[in-house]
Amino acid sequence: PMDLGSWISRRAAATPNLPAITFNDTTLTYGQFADRIDRLAAELAAGGVERGDRVGYAGLNDREFLVALFASARIGAVFVPLNFRLTAPEMSYILSNAGVHTVLADAERAAVVDQISAEAGLRRTIAVAEAPGWESLPELIDSRQPLAEPVHPDPDEVALIMYTSGTTGRPKGAMLTHGNLFWNNVNALLIYDLSQQDISLVSAPLFHIGGLNVTTLSTLQKGGHVILTPAFDPVQALRLIAEHRVTTMFGVPAMFLFMSQVPEFESADLSSVRTFICGGAPAPKALIERYGQRGVTFVQGYGLTETAPLALVLRTDEVDAKVGAAGNQVLPLSDVRLVDADNNPVPAGERGEICVRGPQVMAGYWNDKAATDAVIDSGGWFHTGDIGQADDEGYVYVVDRVKDMVISGGENVYPAEVEDVLFKHPAIADVAVVGTPHERWGEAVTAVAVLHPGATLALEELRDFAAAELAGYKLPLRLDVVDELPRTSSGKIMKFRLRDQLAQA
Ligand code: AMP
Ligand code: MG
Repeated sequence: PMDLGSWISRRAAATPNLPAITFNDTTLTYGQFADRIDRLAAELAAGGVERGDRVGYAGLNDREFLVALFASARIGAVFVPLNFRLTAPEMSYILSNAGVHTVLADAERAAVVDQISAEAGLRRTIAVAEAPGWESLPELIDSRQPLAEPVHPDPDEVALIMYTSGTTGRPKGAMLTHGNLFWNNVNALLIYDLSQQDISLVSAPLFHIGGLNVTTLSTLQKGGHVILTPAFDPVQALRLIAEHRVTTMFGVPAMFLFMSQVPEFESADLSSVRTFICGGAPAPKALIERYGQRGVTFVQGYGLTETAPLALVLRTDEVDAKVGAAGNQVLPLSDVRLVDADNNPVPAGERGEICVRGPQVMAGYWNDKAATDAVIDSGGWFHTGDIGQADDEGYVYVVDRVKDMVISGGENVYPAEVEDVLFKHPAIADVAVVGTPHERWGEAVTAVAVLHPGATLALEELRDFAAAELAGYKLPLRLDVVDELPRTSSGKIMKFRLRDQLAQA
């Protein structure tokens, strides 16, 4: 069966004694992992979660995140992971939009959820470890017998709703089905050749599709060993690679950059690494070269939450010949094409919007048919909002974005959401948010503001003001005060013009 809930139980039946997850120095074998999953599944069901209901997770990476993901699938429930950096109002919006029944949270997030659980309509709250006034997950698991009769959802039933920010300013829930997750993994396994011998370091956040479904789920499906950390720390990552003889790791470029910049990098033992896997934003050539000098190669990937995520992959042996490419169009199980504004394919050498079709393309956005219809056309092609250009061998270079989005340290930031908050500041008469190049984060969220006559505004003040409503990574890193914003005759801000002006400043 393809359903996510079967992955671990099948694997446990085959290799019960192999290590599955090491987290905080304790290791679960596949047998123990499967047992924990079925105990939590029974507990969730006893608490009233039914097939199709949503189970939320708000916390740092934890082995219980993975237990909860598979436990939800075992009863046909839909897992909704939340970005742990979100503020209370941001979390409240997602929890109520998704209609989450039961939420699991770590201690820090429990304090946030407590502020909003009534308005978000939550039915049950469970602490991943312990939180004042909350039921505790380990205690519940220990006292519950494993689920007797798992549910086996169909491939087109939703397994996961991942929220990704939208151009309208509110995040949208990308619905990923059991089939989407399965077929993405088949694509991944056909390309990276992961095996039971692989040991994957997982430090990227699991609430993002890259952290969850590039190496993590495929390693577990194969019976490999996942070394999981609560969050990313460059020095810890280098230490764990040596200690556990790690063979692979997924990260966004900023993570690999930070690892290469700590003093420990020079003496780090990377000899166990077969290949790193990098995606989510373009990887600078210098970064690839820096690791190349240490004998470490990269597989690079381009993808989106909506495509679960793999859409284009650049293999290790292609990186040198195709510097800067996102990958080629021959993933085993999906198609990519570039189209013009009339949805007609463009020839090699011309720019077009990157479109993806295949069994890993999401079912749509949760409760938002209009938004779904805006991105998936009648031919089943998902329109990514990215502009690419293909060479005559089919390698696609991402050259621009049609969607108005900033990628800072691997986190997507939608300017509209930030602008809505900044507009409320009393000194601001007009404001636009754009991305500007940034050495550390790739792009910096940059606010360009027109102030009311006589007003003054400092970056720190603006950040403090917005911090109540916006997660830290969405706060401006740069503020430019101008006399006027460039607008079209219809009043729309010309962001490309603004970016050019800032580049020259
Ligand atoms: P997300 O849904 O958060 O995974 O973000 C997806 C977006 O990240 C894509 O639409 C691209 O704009 C960007 N992206 C992902 N991978 C790459 C890559 N390898 N090169 C350039 N941009 C990328
Ligand atoms: Mg991303």
